[in-house]
Amino acid sequence: MFSTHPAPASGSVVLVGAGPGDPDLLTLKAVKAIASATVLLVDDLVNEAVLAHASSNARIVHVGKRGGCASTPQAFIEKLMIQAAREGHRVVRLKGGDPFVFGRGGEEVEHLQREGIAVEIVNGITSGLAAVTSLNVPLTHRDHAHGVVFVTGHAKPGDGGTDWVALAHCARQARLTLVIYMGVSSANSIEAGLLAGLPSETPVAIVQHATLPHQRHATGTLGTLSATLQAHGLGSPAIMIVGDVLKGLAAQQGTDSTQWGAATALDWVHAA
Ligand code: SAH
Repeated sequence: MFSTHPAPASGSVVLVGAGPGDPDLLTLKAVKAIASATVLLVDDLVNEAVLAHASSNARIVHVGKRGGCASTPQAFIEKLMIQAAREGHRVVRLKGGDPFVFGRGGEEVEHLQREGIAVEIVNGITSGLAAVTSLNVPLTHRDHAHGVVFVTGHAKPGDGGTDWVALAHCARQARLTLVIYMGVSSANSIEAGLLAGLPSETPVAIVQHATLPHQRHATGTLGTLSATLQAHGLGSPAIMIVGDVLKGLAAQQGTDSTQWGAATALDWVHAA
């Protein structure tokens, strides 16, 4: 199927993290892998701009579901990778963020290894990390959080999903920041579960399209998580952050620095 394109003698697959969106956040290793690929399978949420690093001879296949197309079934994607690798291609599977954070990278590696295909992973900056950083907020802080949990709000069908009540107790006792992926559509139940173990005034932030020019965010408290999402019309893809690391941000926004800045500038103009 892929044999019309020039390919190296022995095929392989590299799972490459394309980062959260901003193409400048690609690693050098990712750029080199993309440039040397003969076949690229491009996942959802990968910014098209990263394909500028691909060879003009490379075959590029989009396997994502956004933009109105139906999602390519996982089994078919795995088949494509195996077939192309067996034909001798250097296959790059481009995934949003990091391939090993909620990207099914683990499942793909197991499958490829079972088929005897050489596979390598190139890390990317995960969106949870980038989303928090884009607000100038740290994931950990000696005064507020001793650690961080990356957790999904969307379970595999048939799986009971995250135990939000248990997680809330754990986060409170161990002082952990919660970074929730794929949580928008379950915001109501996440809020209700977390409120069983965390104070309702715990700060939250929601960041949509992190690191992209159209990034938007909103802040609130755990007790108003789903109301904040709705009031600001935020939707997927978004990261929800819960924890006291956001306290600095809340304080910063509470001082109304814009008005202060404007008044100061005006005073300076009058004085001059
Ligand atoms: N492997 C990816 C996560 C894939 S799961 C990573 O490491 O980032 C898809 C989820 O990631 C989305 O539903 C959303 O919660 C989050 N996500 C991905 N890109 C995002 C972005 N630019 N801004 C906010 N959330 C994002």
